[in-house]
Amino acid sequence: MTQGLFLLMFDCDGTIVDSQNVIVTAMAQAFVDHGFAAPDRPSILSGVGLSIAVALKNLLPNEADRTIESVAQSYRNACFALRTQGPSVEPLYADAADTIRRLSQRSNVLIGVATGKSQRGVARLIGENAFEGCFATIQTADDAPSKPHPAMLEQAMNETGAERSGTVMIGDTVFDMEMARAAGVQGIGVSWGYHDRSSLEGAGAEMIIDRFTQLDEALSIVLPGFAEGVLQ
Ligand SMILES: [Mg+2]
Repeated sequence: MTQGLFLLMFDCDGTIVDSQNVIVTAMAQAFVDHGFAAPDRPSILSGVGLSIAVALKNLLPNEADRTIESVAQSYRNACFALRTQGPSVEPLYADAADTIRRLSQRSNVLIGVATGKSQRGVARLIGENAFEGCFATIQTADDAPSKPHPAMLEQAMNETGAERSGTVMIGDTVFDMEMARAAGVQGIGVSWGYHDRSSLEGAGAEMIIDRFTQLDEALSIVLPGFAEGVLQ
């Protein structure tokens, strides 16, 4: 374990990248392909952050696993087709790129990702936004159980040597906050994503920020010693 090391774990969809149009369009396509009525936008967005199989099981509770897997494959294919139209279909939230690049350059800060996306999806996000070298650890739905299981955060701490007390999960959903609590780390909620402020507070968010420019101040409150490190 490394003293004085801060590990900032970021969710992707709804936190770094505004992927709701891709997700809602692709989900509607997958449902229609299988003869189901497309779910409404709030129902779809409430499941963002879960692994796709878990999210689909919530939307189609009476369907067999093989049907769920078939809808999941249609969803992945539809997402892939939409995303190949270019990065503009999934814009980054304001100040996301600057904040991540700046913090990743601090000697005592490591940035990681914990997402329901696949490794392929994260690789695309990195390539399209010149995030190469920014992320010290990348935890995805390919390598761990769905949030809120704590495995992604535990694996990230093991890989980087960060302690629980120096680790924070930053995300837009209750799943992120519940995962943080399950892993024994603090959670900072973001209000610009897919779950509302009161839900995030109820799930254990230490703080909630309304824009990326508030992140440093929030980190200096929840992580003793973080603000001092800014001057190094
Ligand atoms: Mg999210």
